[in-house]
Amino acid sequence: MWTLPRPALVYWLAVDLAAVALGGYVLAATPPPQLADLGRFGAVAGTGVVVVVITAIATQLSNESRRNPWALHICYLSAGLLLLPPNLVLLLLLGPALYGVLGPGPQAHRWLFTLAATTLSVFAARLVIGWDHPNWDFGMLVLAGAVLLLTRFALVAIGLRLRAPSAGADEVFGEPIDVVLGIVAASTGGLMAAAVLADPIRALLAGPPMFLLERAAQLPQWRRSAQRDAKTGLSNAVHWDVQAREELAKASGRGRPVAMMLLDLDHFKRVNDQVGHLAGDAALAAVARELRGSVRHGDLVGRFGGEEFVVLLPDTGPGVAESVAERVRHAISLLRVSTTAADGQAHTLSGLTVSIGVSTSDRYGYDVSALLVAADSALLSAKGYGRNLVAMA
Ligand code: GH3
Ligand code: MG
Ligand code: MG
Repeated sequence: MWTLPRPALVYWLAVDLAAVALGGYVLAATPPPQLADLGRFGAVAGTGVVVVVITAIATQLSNESRRNPWALHICYLSAGLLLLPPNLVLLLLLGPALYGVLGPGPQAHRWLFTLAATTLSVFAARLVIGWDHPNWDFGMLVLAGAVLLLTRFALVAIGLRLRAPSAGADEVFGEPIDVVLGIVAASTGGLMAAAVLADPIRALLAGPPMFLLERAAQLPQWRRSAQRDAKTGLSNAVHWDVQAREELAKASGRGRPVAMMLLDLDHFKRVNDQVGHLAGDAALAAVARELRGSVRHGDLVGRFGGEEFVVLLPDTGPGVAESVAERVRHAISLLRVSTTAADGQAHTLSGLTVSIGVSTSDRYGYDVSALLVAADSALLSAKGYGRNLVAMA
């Protein structure tokens, strides 16, 4: 935690302390619960526990890596904040807290921060519908859900942004599907509350949708691992190919020029031989980052093979393509990568170079294979002319 940038550290601590202070206030200011409250608490928490346990078993059986079932927590917390006195709502927060303690969890300070953000947002929603005597007609229900989700989203996003100012949008804000999951979780919580009000045992009706919700929360991870290359985070070859075909069809329909760059690191085997494969991997990741950073957002960057990368540049003619390739080549030649060498010593890799072959639709049309073959043969000539060069097909 102490390695966080100072603004992040101050912010994370402030959120944690605010949640602790709020928890203290809730405990001190709420009278002991009535029997009916305890019954509802048992129904909501019991359903939550059953689903969390079944989810954990399902994860184990299907060999998936465990993840924070945050949407599940949002679901029973939403029900709780509508139904229960504040001190029992606080007790429900033991759910996400226990996950942090018992689960494989992220580092302690991270789950503490998310737990604190969740606590603050749950009670912000409670404040909206009425602290002591919540009123949740339909309008209030929607408002409470919105406050819960938006507060949590904002608190966490600010924390992540402060922690890593240069992080990508999906790291800070999550994926669009996360928004959908949050809304489904909160509304399932609303349904659960309405059911419990009629009869606590009906809380169990929320079990199957909660289970399904948790399964659906795995989708972004599955999609990512199916589409991305694990070492570099770039599109893998299969996914790149799908995207490239779509982009080429669009460009061909509109008669817009496209360019293809194929890159191959020079003498990369030497890097592995001299400093080890882990350093080689770090170099690949650094090159991928540099490459991604030196082309436009809409350019399709993929890992083509071992130390080969491919970029499709929509709306790009030969002149611009060549200058982009030159810029990339130059940027990579300036890279310095901090790694650990095979002997365990810190090592800064420098002097990495890349050869680049470029083909364009002007000469080779809009067929992905034709463009790749042409770029590959240009790449071979760049290697032949001495490497660290750009060659146009
Ligand atoms: P050239 O300039 O002719 O391209 O020389 P090169 O050594 O880069 O070419 P070659 O194709 O002979 O070797 C590519 C090397 O890239 C071989 C392999 O050790 C390394 N490599 C491929 N994929 C990975 C990877 O994922 N991680 C690491 N560390 N190395 C890789
Ligand atoms: Mg190579
Ligand atoms: Mg190669």
